[in-house]
Amino acid sequence: MAVPKRKTSPSKRNMRRSHDALKVSSYQECSNCGELKQPHNLCNACGHYNGREIVSVDA
Ligand SMILES: [Zn+2]
Repeated sequence: MAVPKRKTSPSKRNMRRSHDALKVSSYQECSNCGELKQPHNLCNACGHYNGREIVSVDA
């Protein structure tokens, strides 16, 4: 089995991990109710998408 010749240095390890951070998810205001929602997703507060009511939310 192939085995690494040297231990990965802290510098190389950290360079590899420089791309591992999670991105902050983006938010938009719902055009119907103004609640924050994720883009291209149904609004959780009022059930609207693209100006139409998709899911009816009671109270
Ligand atoms: Zn909404």
